[in-house]
Amino acid sequence: MQKLSFIILIIFLFNTGSLIAKTPAPVNKSENDQVREIVRHVIESNDEFVKKLPLDYFTQHLHGQKPIATMVTCADSRLHTHALDIHPDGDLFLVRNIGNQVSTAEGSIEYGVRHLHTPVLFIIGHSSCGAVEAAMSKPAHLEPSIWRELDSIRVVGNKSDDQAQVKESVESNVNHQVSTALKKYAAEVKEGHLTIIGGVFDFRNDYSQGSGRLILINVNGETNLTEIKKMPIVNFK
Ligand SMILES: [Zn+2]
Repeated sequence: MQKLSFIILIIFLFNTGSLIAKTPAPVNKSENDQVREIVRHVIESNDEFVKKLPLDYFTQHLHGQKPIATMVTCADSRLHTHALDIHPDGDLFLVRNIGNQVSTAEGSIEYGVRHLHTPVLFIIGHSSCGAVEAAMSKPAHLEPSIWRELDSIRVVGNKSDDQAQVKESVESNVNHQVSTALKKYAAEVKEGHLTIIGGVFDFRNDYSQGSGRLILINVNGETNLTEIKKMPIVNFK
């Protein structure tokens, strides 16, 4: 009988020990399930991506990169590289932040322009940009870290519920960022080594060109759309 009690005690201790070693059960099971689904989505997407590639696909990337452009975009989830480059691997030196700003990503952009020597620097904003709207309406509840990253966004008004004014502010911000980059890279632009292009990814169809179009609004400081359309670098016909 004593021997049986001892075995039961050992089993109890063993089980207790293994329970302690396990990750504690989640407090909120639905949140845990949600995270699991998100991780699954990313892992499965990556799996699908890998399976579609030829075996030697990354051989070309093993010894460095030679991107065709440095591209600054807003971090917004509605704007992604697949909308701007069907095969972005190796093409785009991509820098993302809220409001597609130059000064808050100065080092990354400089690496693309001056070390990777990309001949083009794109600065791409987008319709209904939350960072631009925040710079317009200045909501009091934002954290200091976010405020600091709104500092160099340039808007034209404070009516963030007025879509026409938001559109104008998105353009104003892209133009301001291009202007900031033009000052920094004046020598490269003057020598013809760099072209700085500002654009708006228009998923609201604000420009009546179809939802999801990239609208070029600034080339090296030229903001007249008629003049831009005449430029050989954007005239593909
Ligand atoms: Zn945005």
